[in-house]
Amino acid sequence: MSDYIKLDSEKISEGVKTITELGGHGILKCVQCGACSAVCPGVKAGFPVLCRLLIKKVLDGQLEEMIEESSSWGCQACNRCTEVCPQGVRPQEVVFAFRRYQANELAFSTSAITSQMNLHSYGHAVFSDARELRKKVGLAPEAPTSAYNEKAQKEIQTLLENSPMGELGLY
Ligand code: SF4
Ligand code: SF4
Repeated sequence: MSDYIKLDSEKISEGVKTITELGGHGILKCVQCGACSAVCPGVKAGFPVLCRLLIKKVLDGQLEEMIEESSSWGCQACNRCTEVCPQGVRPQEVVFAFRRYQANELAFSTSAITSQMNLHSYGHAVFSDARELRKKVGLAPEAPTSAYNEKAQKEIQTLLENSPMGELGLY
């Protein structure tokens, strides 16, 4: 098998246009220096196709081929990538634009679905019951969050159930 890919200018233009229209601006300014990936906690946690590599694949015309790539759901929205980019690209926005592209095609990773279900149940994408631990260290057992506030949780559920995800019957 060849180590080279054949670049298709039409697919490159389409991919750049799609990501730009979904909010991922400035990718044509990327010089592939890798500064963003070097500081990305998502890349460190094993989600390789974020920041530099995600942009490279779009610039190679590989957007459609990446539709099932789950790395995008590993982005922590920390924005470190944006802080360090010498070109003024906003890689986090590129990642989020790519997620929108996937969502429009209903290509969700299982972790994204689990996060949504947790959000509906607890108001947090990631939740663990820390009541025993909090008691041990002298804190009130229930942290003041939506997880222990029925009214707040009901409001979150109403919002989610009336969102496009709710219309898909997820909750
Ligand atoms: S830091 Fe900026 S220029 Fe460098 S690879 Fe990342 S997005 Fe591209
Ligand atoms: S915002 Fe996302 S892509 Fe950017 S450094 Fe943080 S985890 Fe990585």
